[in-house]
Amino acid sequence: MPTLGWIKETVEDRQAEREPIPTPKPPSPVRCPECGATVEPGELAAHLSLRHPVARPLLVLAGHAAPSQLVLRETPSEEAIAVANCTAITLFSDGGEPIETDLDGLASALSAEQGHFVIELVNARASDSASVSAIYRINIRVADAAELGEVDREFADRLALDAVNLAAIRAFADACAPLATAADYTDALANYVTGVLAKDQDPATGVTIEFSAFKERFQKALWVLSEYPGRRLPRVVCAAVRMNINDFRRGLPRSGVESLDACAEFLTGLAKQESPVHRPVLPPGDAHAAACPVDRATYEILEIFSRLHDGVLSDQVLDRLRSCAEASTFSPYDRVKCRALLASRYLSIGDTRAAIEPLQALEHDPVFTAWATGALAESGRDG
Ligand SMILES: [Zn+2]
Repeated sequence: MPTLGWIKETVEDRQAEREPIPTPKPPSPVRCPECGATVEPGELAAHLSLRHPVARPLLVLAGHAAPSQLVLRETPSEEAIAVANCTAITLFSDGGEPIETDLDGLASALSAEQGHFVIELVNARASDSASVSAIYRINIRVADAAELGEVDREFADRLALDAVNLAAIRAFADACAPLATAADYTDALANYVTGVLAKDQDPATGVTIEFSAFKERFQKALWVLSEYPGRRLPRVVCAAVRMNINDFRRGLPRSGVESLDACAEFLTGLAKQESPVHRPVLPPGDAHAAACPVDRATYEILEIFSRLHDGVLSDQVLDRLRSCAEASTFSPYDRVKCRALLASRYLSIGDTRAAIEPLQALEHDPVFTAWATGALAESGRDG
């Protein structure tokens, strides 16, 4: 039986009856809006992020990139404030409404007012929506210069003494309590002297905190006082603190106290492997006026340092230095300083054999490792 049947179309036949499938035109290259280079259309995003990454916006204070949080103890000048890689600035000051501003607005706000500022910097790329932002929190707490001067005078009267004690620190804090704008400054100085008492552990001073607490007290003092580079007393205290914690790798700012500066300079030279020359210096007690108290170990080290170049006393001084290098009343930092001075003294008088022991003890010290390792290698070749 014949059958009538539908002619089975092939898929191709059916397709042929419809619109032909539009074959896409080969895409034409596009121009990069940033550099004008021609790139394949699908590649533009990759090209933009690879060739024109959006840089993080930066707040620049006095020529340095600012950390994301900081306390300023001095009002910055308008000229000291700058931004980089920044297309928009939003300023939040002390709980107020956010203000969209520009560099001039930011600079005049920061240089005019004290208080707490949050600054949002945005760097947006014009050609697409990519952007990077950075938040800065800045606390501007400027002490009154007259009040700082008053604190310095109270410090000189009450604490720049040989026989300083806990009662004197309390009296200093009480006397400075009305000087409200200098409260952080007063606290920092009190922390430093408390650290000195902790380090000395002399029961006669009324010290109540333990030896190991000295480091934290000194650090607290350093954080605040290093913000006052223009004042003499903070410079001395900061130099004494940095000497205490062997902060020699970046070089110490000069304090104006000769024995402290000379010793710090010499140890910094060793740490940086610069073959420092031991220059003659007066003992620390021979200064014209007492600047600030130091702990006994630091005083002893400065004393020894001032006599190290003295050829006649050399043996006696080396004996003292040797016993200080092992003294249990010294902090590990102080023993390290003594070993460094001892080894460098032996090396300078040509006694390489005697230098080996203190050098070996310094091989793994974070500050003096490079110098000690180099000196040991050299003495191995010589010996
Ligand atoms: Zn480009």
